[in-house]
Amino acid sequence: MLIESHSFGPAETNTYLVACSETKQAVIIDAPSGSIPWLLKHIKTASLSVQAILLTHSHWDHVADIAALKTQLQVPLYVHKEDAGNVKTPGSDGLPLFFHIDGIEPDGFLEEGQQIQIGNLHIEVIHTPGHSPGSVCFYLKTQKVLFSGDTLFRGTIGSLSLPTARPSLMCTSLRRLAELPQDTKVYPGHGEPTTIGAEQWIARAKPHT
Ligand SMILES: [Zn+2]
Ligand SMILES: [Zn+2]
Repeated sequence: MLIESHSFGPAETNTYLVACSETKQAVIIDAPSGSIPWLLKHIKTASLSVQAILLTHSHWDHVADIAALKTQLQVPLYVHKEDAGNVKTPGSDGLPLFFHIDGIEPDGFLEEGQQIQIGNLHIEVIHTPGHSPGSVCFYLKTQKVLFSGDTLFRGTIGSLSLPTARPSLMCTSLRRLAELPQDTKVYPGHGEPTTIGAEQWIARAKPHT
């Protein structure tokens, strides 16, 4: 398995290029502002065949380059239904937009438990509402890898003070992630990777009362 990552844009959002080493089939997870030249360069250098673009959620900092990237690569775009509105009409989620973002129609919706096969990689969709209603994580059980979007960061979690946030659902989502194997490597939407074992405090997440 190949994982390339870099952060882009004013919120230093991570984009991920994830590929099956045997077949060279790949997916892109999130496309922050300014990520396209870097993605295209790495796709070319590693001779990858991108099969799809997946979104962990639809906040502006994760979708800024999605429309242009999809047009360039001509691959399907998938997002959870509950976050799809802000992909079609960026800004409609109530978060301020600091620059214009083109909207685009997703090709399909991600669902809890869905399995996506990319070459020999099996990617499972875990619906983790909280930071946004349609936030998802992508779990590769065999490789012990989780792409956590803005649900879980190293030492903290994504903001729950945004208009999209559902704080009570976040606790359930975090407790679910805590049950994954401790040596699962976590690649978040912002910042450095961590592991489920290093973030066991999330097992005790409780809603504010
Ligand atoms: Zn976010
Ligand atoms: Zn973010």
